[in-house]
Parts: sequence; structure tokens; C-alpha cells
Amino acid sequence: MAKALFCLECSAIKSFPLDGTTATCDCPEGKVVGWWVDMATATSMMAVLPPGSRDKARVLILHSGFLKADVEILPPGYVGPDGQLYPFDQGQTDANWRDVHEQATLTATRPEALSVFHKSRRACPLVVLKPGTMPDTHWATDVELHKRGLLEPAPA
Ligand SMILES: [Zn+2]
Repeated sequence: MAKALFCLECSAIKSFPLDGTTATCDCPEGKVVGWWVDMATATSMMAVLPPGSRDKARVLILHSGFLKADVEILPPGYVGPDGQLYPFDQGQTDANWRDVHEQATLTATRPEALSVFHKSRRACPLVVLKPGTMPDTHWATDVELHKRGLLEPAPA
């Protein structure tokens, strides 16, 4: 799965970098930030800096298999009677993508992080969530923001 932040104010969509660094929206102030805490458990953390209104922050969870489907799942075309490879017409291309969408919603219901795509839940390879409403995306505490250098220590 891939995760990204989405800012309702500036419309930025920024994926959480694989190296663990911080993704930041494009607002001049009141930036939405997010990062991977543990990719194995798909755990991420978010904040709005300086700490303030969290209303504009969303996390996007994207089904990696769906994102890579055109190179990893979908056939490049069909073989005609002459043995040549021909591209699908628009109707077949759309049908192929609908099939891939369907497959993405048949994903395993465990671990919990993946179950959100399942037919019994969002039934979609793109999930929009408020941070803190799922066990794998938390709001950063002030201590965590200090540790990351994203928050100046309070004056003594
Ligand atoms: Zn923003």
C-alpha cells in the first residue's frame, strides 16, 4: 500500500517518502505533514504545523497493486488472427481497469491495514481518512514532533 497526505486547503497530495522523511503540503503556513513510522505495519503519523486546526488534513491510502496494474497485471493488448499484438480499444481498456478495480477490493481482510480496501468496507483502491480514525495513522504528539525536529521546544 502507498500512503499520502492530502490537504483540503492547498489540494497538495504528497506521498510519504520511503526513506522516512517528512512529506509536507504546500500551504504557506499551517502545513499538513506526514511520514512513515513503520512500513511493515503500514503505520504512519501526521500533524498540522504549527499545531492547530487538524480539519484540513486527510490521509490517502492507495492500493499498490491497483497503481501498478498496467505494468504488473493488465495484458499489453490482444493477439490477432495474424499473430500480431494489437492494443485494446477504449471500451476493452476501460473494462480491464474495472476488473482490476474489482480485484483490488477482493484483497485479504487481514492484516487490518489492508482490509479497508475490501468489498465489505470501502470497496475501493483509494481510501480517504481523517488521521486518527484508523489504528495505523496517528496524530503525532508534541514529544514526537520535538524528536523529529518539527517543533521548537517550549521556552523554559
Ligand atoms: Zn496545505
